[in-house]
Amino acid sequence: MRARLVAGNWKMNGSRSANQALLDAIVAGVKGVECAVCMPAPYLAQGQERLRGTPVVLAAQNLSEHASGAYTGEVSGAMLAEFGCRYVLVGHSERRHMFGETDAQVAAKFVAACAAGITPILCLGETLEERDAGRTEEVVARQLGAVLDKVRIGDAVVAYEPVWAIGTGRTATPEQAQAVHAFLRQRLSAATRVLYGGSVKPENAAAIFSMPDVDGGLIGGASLIAKNFIAICSMAQRKG
Ligand code: PEP
Repeated sequence: MRARLVAGNWKMNGSRSANQALLDAIVAGVKGVECAVCMPAPYLAQGQERLRGTPVVLAAQNLSEHASGAYTGEVSGAMLAEFGCRYVLVGHSERRHMFGETDAQVAAKFVAACAAGITPILCLGETLEERDAGRTEEVVARQLGAVLDKVRIGDAVVAYEPVWAIGTGRTATPEQAQAVHAFLRQRLSAATRVLYGGSVKPENAAAIFSMPDVDGGLIGGASLIAKNFIAICSMAQRKG
């Protein structure tokens, strides 16, 4: 059985003092499930220091597809590895839609993360327009296929995040999530975990995590509130 994973995506939020309080609370409160925090790049050293020797693992939100060189403002996989990142998000919908990341670029980032020894969390999902047009499977298959054409996904992580559910308060129903997870699962090895993300909160987490092909969650807004994130993590524990 795949071990569950809950990753908190802090996005562009935080300060040294707020981070310290949040990390302290997460370390004290999260038990019984693998938990990662995707911190903004400038705070990775702080995360590395605070999480050393704890079960909570450090993750980044993005990386360059390039290894080094004249790419002003970019951060390489090797740099993230030096700060102890275990995971990195690639292809988050905010990167795809606000920063124009293409499927090919996301696939290159996936490969770059693997080359640096960091496990990528490949985010994919359809827009509302695509869902309404009945194109969900076509879109996620295309996004996944761009990576599978280059590399085996193996024990990396995939996060299904319908764009219409991210930061909107509108969650996919557990059945909608399960349907897409089952579709993705047919294309993945048994080791690959598929997380669900999109307005997960304590009120809906248990129902989503009860779906057979949901292996955990990628949590945005609720990961910034310690008690909510800890509650979501506790609901992700496998019972029995
Ligand atoms: C995310 O940013 O990956 C996310 C799922 O955000 P939220 O939980 O706020 O919808």
